Amino acid sequence: TIPKEPPKIQRLDDSVVNRIAAGEVIQRPVSAVKELVENSLDAGSTSVNVAVKDGGLKLIQVSDDGHGIRYEDLPILCERHTTSKLSKYEDLQSIKSMGFRGEALASMTYVGHVMVTTITKGQLHGYRSSYRDGVMENEPKACAAVKGTQIMVENLFYNMIARRKTLQNSSDDYTKIVDLLSRFAIHHTNHGASRSDVHSIATSSRMDSIRTVYGVSVARNLIKIEASDIDHSTSLFEMDGFISNSNYVAKKTTMVLFINDRLVECSALKRAIEIVYAATLPKASKPFIYMSIVLPPEHVDVNVHPTKREVSLLNLEVIIEKVQSVVESKLRESDEARTFQEQT
Ligand code: ADP
Ligand code: MG
Repeated sequence: TIPKEPPKIQRLDDSVVNRIAAGEVIQRPVSAVKELVENSLDAGSTSVNVAVKDGGLKLIQVSDDGHGIRYEDLPILCERHTTSKLSKYEDLQSIKSMGFRGEALASMTYVGHVMVTTITKGQLHGYRSSYRDGVMENEPKACAAVKGTQIMVENLFYNMIARRKTLQNSSDDYTKIVDLLSRFAIHHTNHGASRSDVHSIATSSRMDSIRTVYGVSVARNLIKIEASDIDHSTSLFEMDGFISNSNYVAKKTTMVLFINDRLVECSALKRAIEIVYAATLPKASKPFIYMSIVLPPEHVDVNVHPTKREVSLLNLEVIIEKVQSVVESKLRESDEARTFQEQT
């Protein structure tokens, strides 16, 4: 055959680039909810409300009582790479906010219709503006507002036919959204309060919220766990949480993991804990785990996943070993206590 001419390389239109990128950041309705709730938490909110219609495809609405958005920032709010949380690359090392890339809101405007209502402190009225493809569609309109920000995302994936169809048929995003909010709810029990709160108070209210969210049968069978590692008076690792005891029965592991207050997944850690359960407890139930790990920010790389679902940790092996040994000893303790009770 006659050798073909090499195909010509062309630059993609920004709109195409942005829509492709948006599809990665906002993979499904629950990813939009996560980004919006994280923004609300980053804004210092003490209360966040979420409403969805049609599993989030028709409508996602997140309202908070945070610091709001300045009027003069509204025009660039939904452009890609506009953020109030990061200014130079080095800031990433010590970032405390959950957001940092300025991509979430922009992404939503490339795959849905976004409307923002916000008011800042001391203002008599708020502003409302709507966005499409990164662009503010109209001058912000003055409107009534109470406190904070409300963001509405409508018709998610209206321009991604295949994805919309798949999601419409699966219809399990509602469940995923409820699950996500449950996870946030138990971690942010004392939201707004600082970590130096009296420990017993923090503990009991966290337990209360686990009971409310996951039910009595879970809450009744939990053991408190804690561990820390301090070197030259700087804390290298702090962990606390609740794990299920030997009376708990479940077919699937529930692991609610926060690392430096970020809701993340860590399959290596999850597997490591499952192994301890299988080896320690006679009947092989999968565990329930709520765990909050605090590490020096420079030990956590937050920029490894498009949806920020995973983080990468320096010293992961050491952390895993430590967690395994704490979990194992707590489990043995509680199992021995139970065996003893049964005998007497
Ligand atoms: P990021 O969170 O990475 O900065 P986003 O696209 O999620 O990027 O948000 C862009 C900016 O919009 C944020 O940096 C923040 O200043 C502002 N913002 C978004 N949501 C809220 C909110 N609920 N309350 C106050 N400000 C918000
Ligand atoms: Mg964000």
